[in-house]
Amino acid sequence: MEILRARTQGFCFGVELTYKKALAETSERDNVFTMGNIVHNPLIVKELEDNGLKNVSELADIPEGTLFVRAHGLPPQTLALAEERGLRVVDATCPMVTRTQRLARRLYEEGRTVVILGDPNHPEVKGIAGHAPGCFVLNDWPTDETEIRRLRRIAIVAQSTINQAKFRELVGKIAGINYETRVFNTICSDTQGRQDSARDLASEVDAMVVIGGTNSANTRHLAEIAESAGAKAYLVESAADVRREWFDGEERVGIATGASTPGFLADEVVAKLTAWFPQAQAVGV
Ligand code: SF4
Repeated sequence: MEILRARTQGFCFGVELTYKKALAETSERDNVFTMGNIVHNPLIVKELEDNGLKNVSELADIPEGTLFVRAHGLPPQTLALAEERGLRVVDATCPMVTRTQRLARRLYEEGRTVVILGDPNHPEVKGIAGHAPGCFVLNDWPTDETEIRRLRRIAIVAQSTINQAKFRELVGKIAGINYETRVFNTICSDTQGRQDSARDLASEVDAMVVIGGTNSANTRHLAEIAESAGAKAYLVESAADVRREWFDGEERVGIATGASTPGFLADEVVAKLTAWFPQAQAVGV
């Protein structure tokens, strides 16, 4: 058996930045709160919680102290409310997300109808939407196109982690039925690199292990991409979830990681596979 690793692994720069800021904040002071998990990775979440970071779902649940804004960002209205309440705000929004938020704001102020391609329930999308009141969020093409046909002066932006194939499909359909459509491909470069390397790798292997939080959009997309490239894809959170029987008879196995997956988790999966299959060779490790 050969074990091959995707070109891009470990934390993306946005998660690395947020993670380091969160460690520094929680080491320096008490009462640091985040709204929702800091990254979509249970091991990192636990580490930061052990360090004192508290997770709440509502702003009203923060009695005092610091609101730590995670990589996904928050709507500006929430930040304004936090400041009104006297909370200290530490903004660790990923710079790529901040760029999309500012772009959405500018397009809105130019009088365009901002269309965000992405999951309407994802916090990053909610944060961007807060910058473009009245925007239209689209995750899948609707059976009834009436509402989309009514939109005018459209400007499209996207959730940073949306699958590129979906982005192209939705952009094509919108532009196909609307007179004026401006498109900004705001898929982040790290996400694009990870998706490309997962696709390339999946086309060379029989099975692919994708490591990351099962609640992570970018990790799930990597598994979808691997499957559509022809590999059997197994989404796991750590080496503990990996099953030996998945690899019986497989000659080439690929390893890919989500943007909030620390690099050592991939090392542990490789170690487990080489322990099970002593003839396995880790290529490029
Ligand atoms: S995946 Fe991209 S947008 Fe998301 S945190 Fe990482 S660098 Fe930022």
